[in-house]
Amino acid sequence: MREGLLEIFRETYRELRPASPIPELKIEFFAFANVNNTIRLREGRLLVRLSDLLEGAPDTVLHAIAHILLAKIYRKPIDRGHSARYRKYVASHEIVRKAHLVRQMRGRKLLHSPQGHFYDLDAIFEDLNTRFFHGLMARPRMSWSPTRTRRILGHYDPAHNAIVISRIFDHFAVPRYAVEYIVYHEMLHLKHPVRLRGSRRCVHSAEFHAEEKLFPCLAEANAFLKRL
Ligand SMILES: [Zn+2]
Repeated sequence: MREGLLEIFRETYRELRPASPIPELKIEFFAFANVNNTIRLREGRLLVRLSDLLEGAPDTVLHAIAHILLAKIYRKPIDRGHSARYRKYVASHEIVRKAHLVRQMRGRKLLHSPQGHFYDLDAIFEDLNTRFFHGLMARPRMSWSPTRTRRILGHYDPAHNAIVISRIFDHFAVPRYAVEYIVYHEMLHLKHPVRLRGSRRCVHSAEFHAEEKLFPCLAEANAFLKRL
C-alpha cells in the first residue's frame, strides 16, 4: 500500500473528530470500472476502498477524498474546497482518459460484427483511411448497431474505441457513398476529439466542418439522408 496514505486518513480523521479515538483503518486500492470510492464501518473498523485510478494522485487529492469519505460516514458537512479539489482532479484530462481505457477493458458493451449483409465496415474504414487519411488512422472496433435505428445514424464511442453505424445502412438500396459518408463523419470524430471551449463542449469544430466538406459525394449523401 502507498506510503503515507494511512497517515493522510488519520490526520483527516483528527480534523473531523478531534475528540474521538481513531479506529483501526484498512485502506486498499481497488479496480473499479468507474472512479468510485467506498467507505464502510464494520465492527469498529473503517474499511476504505479507493479506485486504482487514484493511485498516482497527489497527497492534496488523497486528503480531499479522505475528507469526503470520512465526512460522509460520520455525517459531517463536506468542505467545498476539498470537494472542488477532488472533482477537478477526477475531471482532469489524464484521469478521464484512464477511466475510458479502464472501462474499455472491463466494459461489457456488446459490439456486433463489422461484416453486414451488404457492407463490410472494416473494408469501408480502410478504403476511406487510404483515400483521405494517408492510411494513418488506427482502426477502432467497427460495428453495426444491434437494431435498424434512425435516431442515431452513426456514433464514435471513445470509451470503447468503437464506431457504431446504424444497421439501416446495411441494405442493397443504400448507395455506398451514403455508408461511406457516415463512416467518414465518425472518422473525423476520431481525428478531432471533443474539446472543451470554456465550459462548452465543442463536438463539431471549424476544422471538423472544413474537413467534412472534402468528402466528394457530400451533396448526394445529404440528399439521400433526407429521404431516409
Ligand atoms: Zn458528429
